[in-house]
Amino acid sequence: MKVAIYPGSFDPITNGHLDIIRRALSIFDRLVVAVADNSNKKHLFSVKERMDMIRKATESLPVDVDSFDGLLVDYLKKKDVHTIVRSLRANSDFESEFQMAVVNRELDKDIESVFLMTDKEYFYLSSSAVKEVARHGGDVSHWVHDSVREKLREIFR
Ligand code: ADP
Repeated sequence: MKVAIYPGSFDPITNGHLDIIRRALSIFDRLVVAVADNSNKKHLFSVKERMDMIRKATESLPVDVDSFDGLLVDYLKKKDVHTIVRSLRANSDFESEFQMAVVNRELDKDIESVFLMTDKEYFYLSSSAVKEVARHGGDVSHWVHDSVREKLREIFR
């Protein structure tokens, strides 16, 4: 069985992430969506809330939702998985993703990162943009799963 890990902040999960998850599942049999518990970054939602939203949005898919802290390579080792899925949007993603992939491979030679190109429909979409629009009462229903829209509505009420 081919398994990969899709790590990220997912603060919150968007339809861009969901598109990557669906497409990754045409390559892998199972995907672990792993929320990074990174206290250096300021997040709107707790790890638990982010995991709950991912669970609801991926209900019918062969996806496990998990979280990790510390080094991603250590988490992969613990799960006995060797492939990381990430995605590229604008040019600006390339540099940081490239750096991260090289560092991860330096840390563990058995790890391979696989990059999926975002769909043109989601090229501009980011969790930050979704939060900014929701914060000002804008409609985000085209960009996120219903459960995420509800959570955003609750938080910015
Ligand atoms: P991180 O803080 O780890 O970058 P994100 O949740 O922002 O976490 O992103 C996780 C992964 O999903 C990254 O590889 C990112 O490029 C990708 N991603 C984010 N938004 C989109 C989108 N709209 N379309 C496709 N991929 C996306």
